[in-house]
Amino acid sequence: MIINGKCHCGNIAFELEWEGDPPEIPARACGCSFCVKHGGVWTSNPKARLVVAIRDTSFVSKYVFGSGTATFHVCSRCGIVPLVTSEIADHLYAVVNVNVLENVDQSWLRRATANFEGEDVESRLARRTRNWIADVRIAEGSA
Ligand SMILES: [Zn+2]
Repeated sequence: MIINGKCHCGNIAFELEWEGDPPEIPARACGCSFCVKHGGVWTSNPKARLVVAIRDTSFVSKYVFGSGTATFHVCSRCGIVPLVTSEIADHLYAVVNVNVLENVDQSWLRRATANFEGEDVESRLARRTRNWIADVRIAEGSA
C-alpha cells in the first residue's frame, strides 16, 4: 500500500510504498541523544520505496551529529523531522518517522526500542544497507 507522511506544515511530504495490506510496520524508538529529545520513532524496510517531495528547501534544516553519517531533515517551519538519510557508497538510504504517518492504523505498528550507541561506524553503515529503505527519491521544489 501507499503510506503518506508529512511534517505538520506540509513542507516535507512523502509517499512510502510498503508491502502487505495491512502492512506490518516496525516502529523503533531510537535511544540516541537526538531521538530521545525529539521522541524519534523510525521505520524502514529494505523493500519499501520512498518518494519525498520538498516544497521549499530553504525551510529544511539538515542536522548532522556524532559520526556524521546520518542527516536529519528537520522542517524549520514547524520543527518536525519526517526522515533521516544516510549516503553509503554513493547510494541514498532513508528511514521515516512513524509519528508523521497519516493513513496508518496504530495496530499495524510493531513497537520496540533500539539503542545503537557504541556501535562502530562500519557496523552501523552495514546495518543501514540491510535495513533502511534503499529506493529513495527526493524531489525538491515540488508542490
Ligand atoms: Zn513543516
